[in-house]
Amino acid sequence: MNQTGPDPEATRSVNPAFSTEDGEIELTLRPKLLDEYIGQHKAKENLKVFIAAALNRKEALDHCLFYGPPGVGKTTLANVVANELGVNLRVTSGPAIERPGDLASLLTNIGEKDVLFVDEIHRMPRSIEEILYPAMEDFGLDIIIGKGPSARAVRLELPHFTLIGATTRAGKLSPPLRDRFGILLRLELYDHTSLAKIVERSSHILKADCDAGGAQEIAARSRGTPRIANRLLRRVRDFAEFYYEKKITKETAELVLQKLDIDKLGLDLLDHRMMNTIIKNYNGGPVGLETLATAIGEEAVTLEDVYEPYLIQIGFLARTPRGRCATSLCYEYLGKKSQQPNLFPHPNNQKPD
Ligand code: ADP
Repeated sequence: MNQTGPDPEATRSVNPAFSTEDGEIELTLRPKLLDEYIGQHKAKENLKVFIAAALNRKEALDHCLFYGPPGVGKTTLANVVANELGVNLRVTSGPAIERPGDLASLLTNIGEKDVLFVDEIHRMPRSIEEILYPAMEDFGLDIIIGKGPSARAVRLELPHFTLIGATTRAGKLSPPLRDRFGILLRLELYDHTSLAKIVERSSHILKADCDAGGAQEIAARSRGTPRIANRLLRRVRDFAEFYYEKKITKETAELVLQKLDIDKLGLDLLDHRMMNTIIKNYNGGPVGLETLATAIGEEAVTLEDVYEPYLIQIGFLARTPRGRCATSLCYEYLGKKSQQPNLFPHPNNQKPD
């Protein structure tokens, strides 16, 4: 496996973060209604009830916080909620709301019962949060008119709206902001069956000829993440059109993904580098997050948000109070022998499927 390009993270096919090449296509592939939204049964069942209740009472839906790793469908779900409620959706993100005026103009231009979606809400400045509290609680916006001694506070009445916040790091939200969300939903990484359904649905929309075996193979290498599944499908389709008479089968998917250095569990060069570093340089761990990040030349936050959730989910990595450790399953997969006794066997003692 050869390393490519100056910034491997930005060009990584299995990076769950949005990249510009996902662009318009993601919009086309986005499910519009709850019934088309695959997987996440628990979140969907709860939302169905809350949406029906809000519609029945002719009220705005309670404020919602969606949290989970990148690419698992938080933005998609916000769109679905607005569609199911039959209201408009305004989209912004935490870092884009820099000044109180930005928030004021968003909130004063919103319609009754509309949804305001704030992506990466944990990155919203604290000064803005404080203006948001009365807006969320009492649908009022406190603004200061005038300057100096003649300045006075005026409260503007806002329409009853729903705020949907999305975050990859619920722990980074300040407690007062978190407490103002009535509905908190955690979105999980997807199992292979749900991902295969997503690949089948997307290949249908893209008019790609993908059979069940092809969809399963792509799903197995997509790290539990729909965004990656859709991206790998597009890559495999490109190769299939060029070399394999357009058909995506298990064999073509396997060949293409191997060519792209994505192994059968969806791990790429960067994952291998991280796991090998823990094993070789730190005798399997524990190694602190910052130290590990420096050793592999990545930012700690990228390791935490992008690499770790999947490696932990498949039981290759354990997060302990003293740092990160490679598990016995990880050693086994990489064909390495542990120098220490089996300190971190996989919790269920099961291999990932
Ligand atoms: P996030 O906001 O969590 O980063 P997105 O909502 O942007 O993730 O999802 C990325 C892409 O994955 C979407 O464009 C959509 O096509 C697809 N996707 C996400 N969740 C689902 C799902 N449950 N069913 C079908 N496709 C999904």
